[in-house]
Amino acid sequence: MQIGVLAIQGGFSKHENSLRKLNVNPIEVKYEYQLNNCDGLIIPGGESTTISKLLNKYYLINPIKEFAKTKPIFGTCAGLILMSRNSNDSRVENLNIIDVEINRNGWGRQISSFSQMIKIGQNLNYEIEAIFIRAPKIFNIGEKVEVLAEINGEPVFVKQGIHFGATFHPELTEDITIHKLFIESIAV
Ligand code: GLN
Repeated sequence: MQIGVLAIQGGFSKHENSLRKLNVNPIEVKYEYQLNNCDGLIIPGGESTTISKLLNKYYLINPIKEFAKTKPIFGTCAGLILMSRNSNDSRVENLNIIDVEINRNGWGRQISSFSQMIKIGQNLNYEIEAIFIRAPKIFNIGEKVEVLAEINGEPVFVKQGIHFGATFHPELTEDITIHKLFIESIAV
């Protein structure tokens, strides 16, 4: 299995490390043709306004939307902001892959970065450390969206069909539970 990691800005190399730990071959994606070899794609955290600008520059907006029709995408933090229906910031062109709205930097300045143990899924029973860095908040969740984890009623990990989105950074801990979940959801 080969998983693409969008490598135009942000924390892509840490995602590559997490994938390698699972014996999955990461492919750095910068150009459209590189998507052809990927069974799934990770859109990393970073700065969503910058990533959005670069997605336009590299003509990747439509190819990623097309990719999402048949192959799974996992967005973390800025990656989820991009995947959302609406991130309420005109500088971000939303890919509209996960039917949620986003409030960028929604956790406020004082707690713009924090780490917390979270439980994943109702039946999955995993507990992991989640690191939040100027994290977005999710609201106005569409019917098809499943909430896999939350903190005080705030969704932090969601799934819609084959796609996943997290407001935290699973690539920044040694724990590979979340990446494993994504990989295992892909039947190749
Ligand atoms: N606050 C950033 C943004 O809006 C996201 C931060 C992150 O990806 N860690 O784009």
